[in-house]
Amino acid sequence: MSSATPELIRVVYISRANFKVASAETGVEPTVARILQASRINNPKLDIGGLLYYGDGCFFQCLEGERAAVVELLKKIKRDPRHKDMKVVYQVSTQVRQYSNWSMKYIPASDRVQLLLSHNGYDKFDPYQFDKEMIKKLLQAFRLINHEQDRGGEPGTLAQEGASAVDQRKALLKWLAAPVVLGLLAGLVWYGYA
Ligand code: FAD
Repeated sequence: MSSATPELIRVVYISRANFKVASAETGVEPTVARILQASRINNPKLDIGGLLYYGDGCFFQCLEGERAAVVELLKKIKRDPRHKDMKVVYQVSTQVRQYSNWSMKYIPASDRVQLLLSHNGYDKFDPYQFDKEMIKKLLQAFRLINHEQDRGGEPGTLAQEGASAVDQRKALLKWLAAPVVLGLLAGLVWYGYA
C-alpha cells in the first residue's frame, strides 16, 4: 500500500472586481472584508494558506495547499459573482509551504506596491498586463511587506536588513576581541613587574 505525500501546489490567479466600490474611509473595502472573513473561516479547514491583494479594481490571490483542495476552492471562487475574468497566471508544484501561517493574508495597496509598479514600467495595478517575472516580483514583495508588518513598525528595506546583519557581525567581533585585549594588558603588566 502506498502512502505518498499529497502534492502541494501554489497558484496565483487574477480577476476584476464586479461590485461598486464603497468608500472605506479607514481600513478594507467592505466587500473585500467580507471575502477575507469567509476565507479566514474556510481556508484553515482545508489546510489552505495564501494572500489576497486588491487594488485598482483587480484581485491578485495566491492559494497554497493540497492540489485537490486548491482546485476545488478555485472552482468555488470562480462561481462568485463578486468578480469576473478570473485567470490563473502562475502555478507551481511545491514541497515547502510558504503560507502555512496565513489562512488568507490581506496585502493592502500601498506606496511600496506603487513604487514596484512604476519601477517596472506600470502606472497602475493591472495584472492582466504583467509578465511571469512581474508576478514573481509581486509575490516576493507581498511576502516582504507582510514580514515587515508582522515585525511591527515601518516597513524597512532589504538594505536595512543587510545592515542589521553587519551590526550583528560587529558585535560578535567585539566579543571575540575582548579576551585578546585583556591578555595583552595582563602581559604588559606582568612585563612591567618582571
Ligand atoms: P457564505 O460566505 O455564507 O456565502 C454563501 C453564498 O453567498 C456563497 O455562494 C457566496 O458566493 C455568496 N455570497 C456571499 N456574499 C455575497 C455577496 N456579498 N455578493 C454575492 N454573493 C455573495 N472563499 C474562501 O473560502 N477562501 C478564499 O480564499 C476565497 N477567496 C476569494 C477571493 C475572491 C477574489 C472572491 C471574489 C471570493 C473569494 N472567496 C473565498 C469567497 C468564495 O467565492 C465564496 O463566497 C465563499 O467561499 C463561500 O463561503 P461560505 O461557504 O462560508 O458561504
